[in-house]
Amino acid sequence: MAKHIIIGGVAGGATAAARLRRIDEQAEIIMIEKGAYISYANCGLPYYIGGVIKERDKLFVQNAKSFGKRFKVDVRVKQEVLSIDKAEKLVTIKGEDGSQYQESYDKLLISTGANPIIPPLEGIDSNGVFTLRNVSDTDKIKHYIDNHAPKRAVVVGGGFIGLEMAENLHHQGIEVSLIELAEQVMAPIDYSLASIIHEHLIQQGVTLHLGKGLASIKPNKEGLSLTLNNGETLETDLVLLSIGVKPNSFLAETAGLELGESKAIKVNEYMQTSDDDIFAVGDAVEYPHPITGKPWLNYLAGPANRQARLVADNMVFGLKEKYEGSIGTAIAKVFDYTVGSTGLAAKALKREGIEYKSVTIHPNNHAGYYPSASAITLKITFDPKTGQLYGAQALGFDGVDKRIDSIAQILKHKGAIYDLMETEQAYAPPFSSAKDPVALAGYVANNIIIGKMTALYWREMREANRGEVQIIDVRTKEEFELGHIEGAVNIPVDDLRERLAEVDNDKPKYIYCAVGLRGYLASNILLANGFKNVLNLIGGYKLYRSATTPIYKMKVKQVSLECKK
Ligand code: FAD
Repeated sequence: MAKHIIIGGVAGGATAAARLRRIDEQAEIIMIEKGAYISYANCGLPYYIGGVIKERDKLFVQNAKSFGKRFKVDVRVKQEVLSIDKAEKLVTIKGEDGSQYQESYDKLLISTGANPIIPPLEGIDSNGVFTLRNVSDTDKIKHYIDNHAPKRAVVVGGGFIGLEMAENLHHQGIEVSLIELAEQVMAPIDYSLASIIHEHLIQQGVTLHLGKGLASIKPNKEGLSLTLNNGETLETDLVLLSIGVKPNSFLAETAGLELGESKAIKVNEYMQTSDDDIFAVGDAVEYPHPITGKPWLNYLAGPANRQARLVADNMVFGLKEKYEGSIGTAIAKVFDYTVGSTGLAAKALKREGIEYKSVTIHPNNHAGYYPSASAITLKITFDPKTGQLYGAQALGFDGVDKRIDSIAQILKHKGAIYDLMETEQAYAPPFSSAKDPVALAGYVANNIIIGKMTALYWREMREANRGEVQIIDVRTKEEFELGHIEGAVNIPVDDLRERLAEVDNDKPKYIYCAVGLRGYLASNILLANGFKNVLNLIGGYKLYRSATTPIYKMKVKQVSLECKK
């Protein structure tokens, strides 16, 4: 009878334990978890703090007793594995009473997750400063809110969890400020899309401090006084630190297991570590990215679950199931917006030195004539020669999830923009359009690849020397008067054929409209009339305006989110 020990009892650990039991009824399975709870919904913690999930019990998928009974697993909570002796195949465990004992194993699985990064700043241990990783952190935050009724909160870090917490603290009636060292929130997406989120956050009343870092915290009579790295000060009652996590690879390292470049546990395609009998999954491991081939960390629940299932099979049946790698498909609710991404954004491709092109479109989530249609901003990145798809990111009020998911499936199977064009979506007016945003993104990308349209990106438009190019706004006169790009002349697309004499053929022509469609039509007209050097602004004025408006100019409900085609 095989004896399996699993270290860590949440996403990866509990999934592997259940799968082990399903495929081997006889094995002895011991799952050791240092916290008090197993198999809980860490992804739901921000929503419990915000009061959206009202009952604490709902966070727990299983408890130690029920899980143990159903899967015949020896679940030991409040016990911590202190060390692994791989030569003797033993783990040393600290029991709940502090005493230590050892347990032998045939196969060992490490699913120890990741730890929040806590910078060594003055005052970081002050009362009212929190991180959020587990139920115990959640209880502390909830208790603090219930007992101190904070009026102001500062979230440090604008990643997915930081933004979810900003929303949930706001939901509790707390005035929220957000500090982020980078110039944008949500690192996996590009600045242009992040700028739309910036505007949305500001519209919701969140104060943004972008490009700034927290330098120190000083408790005072009223609460906490924060100093930023530019000398600015902020007064608050609560601080939520969410500046990232690092893989919890301490046990593996001290056991002499090989770590990767990022100090996460190195595993092969069977999720096996450098020791044949020790496996590892989840946030604690690094794995090659399917597109770049380089090791990367992927702090997501889906991949942890997938790895856990296949690793259980490999522990029982031998090395058979290979992990294909994760492309990092993620989604978050940011107030009224849904923001999703998969694969590599333009900035990641730039960093990797991979040649790419991108397309950004703003189609409606469903047929425009059906009530409550709203725009989705969808950006894809791809190889300009082969059309291989590299990534997608999207935001909007509705329908983002299904577009990101369907593109992720294509991406995961190494698809190209041509596969987007072939997408067959279920369509009726309340759900989509006959030409779905996913297919539309493929068509626009194809137009660029075959040379039917030359793409101009918002940075190129911003940097263009106004004397050397002719910028033509092909929207209506009314739209032009409401706001336009500096230096532009207005020739509405419907008048263009009659006003060709106003187009300067000696200069590159930078065409734009609201979202890119009329610009494309105008560029076709010009090309068909013999004009050369015609470029169309990708994402149109809508994207340009968001990406170039400094946050201090973004005001509550400044701009209508509706966009004319
Ligand atoms: P975990 O689930 O963190 O489990 C690791 C466990 O190991 C911990 O319980 C820890 O106590 C235990 N442990 C560590 N060391 C020892 C030891 N020496 N002895 C015994 N036990 C030990 N992902 C998404 O995809 N979508 C989301 O919406 C999302 N939201 C999130 C929101 C929050 C607030 C958090 C914290 C995470 C979120 N994640 C989300 C990430 C996701 O939860 C993780 O990627 C996933 O839980 C990783 O699984 P894991 O098994 O590697 O680690």
